Amino acid sequence: MALRQEPHVLVIAGSDSSGGAGLARDIETISSLGVRTCLAVTALTVQTHESVAQIHRSSPRLVADQMRAALQANEVVAIKIGMLATAETVVAVAAVLRENPRVPAILDPVLASTSGRALLEADAVAAMKHDLMPLCRLVTPNLIELALLVPAERATDEDGAIRQGQELLGAGAQALLIKGGHASGPRSTDILLRSNQEPLRFDTPRLAASMRGTGCMLASAIAAHLAKAKPLEDSVREGKQLVFQKLMERSD
Ligand code: PLP
Repeated sequence: MALRQEPHVLVIAGSDSSGGAGLARDIETISSLGVRTCLAVTALTVQTHESVAQIHRSSPRLVADQMRAALQANEVVAIKIGMLATAETVVAVAAVLRENPRVPAILDPVLASTSGRALLEADAVAAMKHDLMPLCRLVTPNLIELALLVPAERATDEDGAIRQGQELLGAGAQALLIKGGHASGPRSTDILLRSNQEPLRFDTPRLAASMRGTGCMLASAIAAHLAKAKPLEDSVREGKQLVFQKLMERSD
């Protein structure tokens, strides 16, 4: 069948009724880069741009079944993981990744909405760190998520963030992109950390504009570029540039 031959990104994520983040943002981003998507929906959320009113979680079995069907139906060449909601879903996703070790997965470790509502249950953080992170080609925490994953106080400078990142590499992560969006200063710097390699910095001017779903957009763009067979570093550079452009469009 023709569809089967087209490269797809499998998006594992929750829906956001406001359209600001989650699945809608992921599909929009990956499509804008000319790559098709297939889906495993982990949760339905009722939210506006200001607050999260309801979260309805898919069962872990339903998430795993969606993943296996998507992988069977299509040529999946990259996987993007966003909101997972529960420890059981984290474990179910990890099991399907283990069945497909050659497909690179990008994990955005979504822990909470900007408005403060938890999008991953507290007891799921350890499962994410030990079961899922080591299976992923890249994990993209912001400084808040990084501190919760370590766990430690939130890093206040670049050296502190790199030290925390190295702890996560020690715990089995293959590569981390530490996002500096929550830091301060005139530049917004993301740091790519890999074992036995110097940290690599990706840096743009910091813009006054704010926008929801930038984490979803970045991880989705990286997955789409990997799907186009670009190396990890180039995929990260292009992803960061895309988010910068979108913020620029909103800042004037
Ligand atoms: N809702 C869903 C379903 C998400 O996946 C995410 C983040 O990935 C959010 C909300 C949080 O987005 P924001 O931080 O822009 O509120």
